[in-house]
Amino acid sequence: MSKGLLIVLSGPSGVGKGTVCTALRKRVPELIYSVSATTRQPRLGEENGVNYFFKSQEQFLDMIEKDQLLEHAEYVGNYYGTPRDFVEETLNSGKDIILEIEVQGALKVKEKFPEGIFVFLLPPSLDELKDRIQGRGTENQATIEHRMSVAEQEISLLQQYDYAVVNDEIDLACKRIESIIIAEHCKINSKSK
Ligand code: ADP
Ligand code: 5GP
Repeated sequence: MSKGLLIVLSGPSGVGKGTVCTALRKRVPELIYSVSATTRQPRLGEENGVNYFFKSQEQFLDMIEKDQLLEHAEYVGNYYGTPRDFVEETLNSGKDIILEIEVQGALKVKEKFPEGIFVFLLPPSLDELKDRIQGRGTENQATIEHRMSVAEQEISLLQQYDYAVVNDEIDLACKRIESIIIAEHCKINSKSK
């Protein structure tokens, strides 16, 4: 049995990764979602084990120590990481999995899984990105400014990705990513998936 595809959806905070990923999973229900671990506090409505595995700093450092994370990164004052076993088991069972992670982590995954499909989600403009972070209403002004300065550095790493998808409209962005997945499944004699 051939392995599943590892799809990494990355891009700056507020670009719409979460929104697009949720919509994509409705369109492609067989796509498995990798739930990350984080030390960030849950936002209103977020559930442990569904949105994230919420961990204390001590628990997170223990996961790193035990090599339970495929990658991890510190992002704007909190740790985020991808549980390793779930990703490997899903791929080995022939299913596709999507990781929705920030840019440093995505590039670490690329070192370990160069055969992965790396998709960078772009905002239509930086002004629109700021409006989206502000409109989400989950961060204070200082954190918004911090996330915006990180965003500009992240966008400069775009060339290291396989695909760039503009999230102008959620439905269009989803269709573009779905097309990428379909095309990658149709590839012959390229990267061994
Ligand atoms: P990320 O996961 O990249 O941090 P979110 O999915 O939380 O981003 O989206 C940030 C905000 O932008 C949310 O309020 C979301 O509703 C909004 N948003 C996402 N995609 C679009 C879009 N295509 N057009 C307008 N608003 C969007
Ligand atoms: P948020 O706090 O807005 O949920 O996430 C902040 C950033 O961390 C987002 O860009 C999100 O994609 C990223 N992120 C979420 N999970 C992971 C992960 O497991 N690893 C890494 N490197 N980044 C993650």
